Amino acid sequence: MPFVYDFDHTHRRPPMELKDLLGGKGANLAEMTSVLRLPVPYGFTITTDACRAHMAGGWPQGLTGEVTRARARLEKKMGKRLGDAVDPLLVSVRSGAKFSMPGMMDTVLNLGLNDESVEGLAKQTDDERFAYDSYRRFVSMYGRIVLGLPGEAFDTLLDEAKARAGATSDAEVPVGELRSLVEAYKQIVRHHTGTAFPQGPDEQLRGAIEAVFGSWNGPRAIAYREHEGIAHDLGTAVNVQAMVFGNRDDRSGTGVGFTRDPATGAKGEYGDFLVNAQGEDVVAGIRNTEPLSALKQRFPKIHTELVGIFARLERHYRDMCDTEFTIEQDKLWMLQTRVGKRTGRAALRMAVEMTTDPGIRLSRAEAVQRVTAEHLEQVLHPQFAESGHTVLTTGLGASPGAAVGRVYFTADDAEAAAKRGERAILVRSETSPEDVHGMLASEGILTARGGLVSHAAVVARGWGKPAVVGAEKVRISGKSFKVGTTVVAEGDWISIDGTAGEVVLGSVPLAEAKPSAESETLLGWADTIRKGHLQVRANADNGPDAANGRRLGAEGIGLCRTEHMFIAEDRLPIVRRMILAEDPSAEDAALEELRVAQRADFIEILQAMDGLPVTVRLLDPPLHEFLPDTGELAIKEATVGLTDEEQALFEAAKQWHEFNPMLGTRGVRLGVIKPGLYAMQVRALMEAAVHRVAAGGTPVIEIMIPLTVSREELALARRWVEEAVTAALAPVSPADGRPVTAARRKSDRDGRLQVLIGTMIETPRAALRAGEIAEVAEFFSFGTNDLTQMTFGFSRDDVEGRMMSTYLEKGLLKHNPFEIVDADGVGELVRIGVARGRATRPSLKIGVCGEHGGDPESISVFFDAGCDYVSCSPFRVPIARLSAAQCVLAAAAGIPEAKKRPRAGVAKKRAPAAKKRAAVAKKRAPAAKKRAAVAKKRAPAAKKRAPAAKKRAPAAKKRAAVAKKRPPAAKKRPGAARKATRRTR
Ligand code: ADP
Ligand code: MG
Ligand code: MG
Repeated sequence: MPFVYDFDHTHRRPPMELKDLLGGKGANLAEMTSVLRLPVPYGFTITTDACRAHMAGGWPQGLTGEVTRARARLEKKMGKRLGDAVDPLLVSVRSGAKFSMPGMMDTVLNLGLNDESVEGLAKQTDDERFAYDSYRRFVSMYGRIVLGLPGEAFDTLLDEAKARAGATSDAEVPVGELRSLVEAYKQIVRHHTGTAFPQGPDEQLRGAIEAVFGSWNGPRAIAYREHEGIAHDLGTAVNVQAMVFGNRDDRSGTGVGFTRDPATGAKGEYGDFLVNAQGEDVVAGIRNTEPLSALKQRFPKIHTELVGIFARLERHYRDMCDTEFTIEQDKLWMLQTRVGKRTGRAALRMAVEMTTDPGIRLSRAEAVQRVTAEHLEQVLHPQFAESGHTVLTTGLGASPGAAVGRVYFTADDAEAAAKRGERAILVRSETSPEDVHGMLASEGILTARGGLVSHAAVVARGWGKPAVVGAEKVRISGKSFKVGTTVVAEGDWISIDGTAGEVVLGSVPLAEAKPSAESETLLGWADTIRKGHLQVRANADNGPDAANGRRLGAEGIGLCRTEHMFIAEDRLPIVRRMILAEDPSAEDAALEELRVAQRADFIEILQAMDGLPVTVRLLDPPLHEFLPDTGELAIKEATVGLTDEEQALFEAAKQWHEFNPMLGTRGVRLGVIKPGLYAMQVRALMEAAVHRVAAGGTPVIEIMIPLTVSREELALARRWVEEAVTAALAPVSPADGRPVTAARRKSDRDGRLQVLIGTMIETPRAALRAGEIAEVAEFFSFGTNDLTQMTFGFSRDDVEGRMMSTYLEKGLLKHNPFEIVDADGVGELVRIGVARGRATRPSLKIGVCGEHGGDPESISVFFDAGCDYVSCSPFRVPIARLSAAQCVLAAAAGIPEAKKRPRAGVAKKRAPAAKKRAAVAKKRAPAAKKRAAVAKKRAPAAKKRAPAAKKRAPAAKKRAAVAKKRPPAAKKRPGAARKATRRTR
């Protein structure tokens, strides 16, 4: 395989599909050149193969020859030669990996200039100023990027030269100053490296190419890849391209353009440009740019041409494109394009609008695949809860959502603050790739300079971090900033609104965002796609949460934690009385009080979820959680003394104390030693159900026993439940003494009162013995939080605080298994549990509750395992709906949900190493296809389940087979710290 391809090389496949080989930039430059025939300066791409070979064993054999020949071809096309003293060719050397890594890799412009050719360029263009401006740019870039010299050395000299000349912009620096700058720059090079600035084009080119190769393993690039979950062994391609000059004169310029607005998704071109400037200037946010609409006035013809190109690009890529262009003396050149990054709001709007766009005609399935969980998360981002706050200053709303935090002025300080557990807002004049770690650690970002395509804006948008950029009134000096006379010092609280671009002093209360109309549409499509394959429920413990979950699209409650009903302030004393009860009648009295309270709670929940299944978990946590803290009481006893009641509580608390309560008297074990408790709960629930039926409602009830480990245990608990159900229904059922069967319960109350009894599977034993447990369970719900705890032996309450970060840092864990389910271990238990459970009872309904149920990557593990539904906190429901649909689509396409690209960049990113994923994807394809087939066959939804039971038996077997065959899943995502979500017990 050759190492070098010209942009106009005829590839067998469309070059845009060859990103693995040519890198994203190279692939799209070739596409624009050879397929779209757009005005692109000639050039060639050195492949990622060459970079990988270089990483493995230094400069690859044969590369020199290939580069020399490609260079000769380029020189021939251009009719100019590198380093020529009369009419020199200049080139840029541009990095470009498979995945765009904005600002992470380095590009050298104007290569080929030396002391002789700069004179040739001056004569040829009749513009000495331009020639020396290009030369000084080249020396400083080459010095910084290739020779590794500190950039400030060059910048300081330029600033001084500007000051001397009284120039406000780079373009005004006179030629004399530029000449001396070049000399001074060369001095810096000599001073730092001990040798003269390289004059030979061969040496320059080889140096630049190697520097690009090397930048792949620079700390910034590595950090970025870690965060984005991009594999470290992909390498980058290198593009060598003839220079065009936006810094020629005022008939020249350079810009960045999007085919639609990447922030809002609105149709129509969008972007910035700068007159008389070279590429970097726009992105760096150093000079204030003009909007593309201004291009229309200044360069009407070019504007028309550009808009035409944008239309073609959109049709060709069937998506919004992001471009870089340069105008050299009234001639337009396209320098880059790619499918552009976008905000969540824009992603949703574009995906929906492109389905009806005649040039694009996206299918609904494609639209659903275009939106990532992170995009959706962004539109669900918090906003300022109320208006009326005083705005300190405004900038550009560069990345939507509101954030509140304390002000820090350096990336390191912001990161340190975040590590201390503080919420930080990073405030900078502008950001650069060196600030990335601080941006990551911050809640939001505020910059004083830069536009909507500045580094800060692009990076923040990609990660869904609220950002306000270009707040020009913000004057930063040291560790404070001023707006007018207001001083904001390090550690002070501010609030920013990245949608409106507002900066507010102090901390403004935040409110959850409302999904846009497009998100409703798109989620509706997602629902259609996943219908009959994977349902989404909410975890909700009270009426309002249940209503919220339903509003957000939940198809029932997968986990209703009854302990939350006991912890309410007015309930706690009753629970304590029950625990303290010295005789059965006192215990009964307390239970009776609780029953009345719980009944009311259940009525609310059942009403909110009327017609949809509500899974009620009987009391789960250790009882000591309801008792006061023994430490506190001990102190009080020793100091002021205790009241009688406190004394009794203290004794009870000590009595119930366990060394390892997480593995102690909780879940069904609690039921075993206090059977009256579960009976009371079921009675309260059934009374609520009867009440709902009387009110014309249709309660659908699933009673769930927590923490079961054996059939016998579940059989015992099941008996209490059945007895309590019978007792509660007795007044309305014929007392014929027949056993309460599922069919019987179903037919009770005119079929309007359905009760299923099942269990959580949250111990490894339960998963392994699922076959026998299923004999007495009508449904399973995997409690993956406890299952993770018990599979790893990681205490949920301790390891995340103390050791998790070290484990992640040392790479001992790829990610926090409490965030993303451990597909290989815990996932295997789920697969085993599903297969064995269904082997016994093909109609077994299977779900997952716990926060994993709202995590996209975990959802795909559960879908692949054959679960019927996932359940998560209400605000994650929309994300789960989208992810579930994407799993179904991926399965139908024969590729596992482990997609071939990292998720469009966002903070919570922990995509697996792309390459490994791709490899795994290949291996998994057959299994995935089978899964898809199974998915199709799977009877849609609960209703059909019982009659479909027979038919499904073979499917269950296949699923079991799939579970067995399934190769170990991909080693996944580096664990970017994720905000703690509410956990289930
Ligand atoms: P990045 O990936 O960081 O955007 P690029 O390789 O795109 O880096 O280059 C940085 C800047 O230099 C861009 O603004 C680009 O438009 C400009 N540039 C690159 N090559 C050329 C060229 N041949 N002629 C003119 N400008 C160029
Ligand atoms: Mg670029
Ligand atoms: Mg549990």
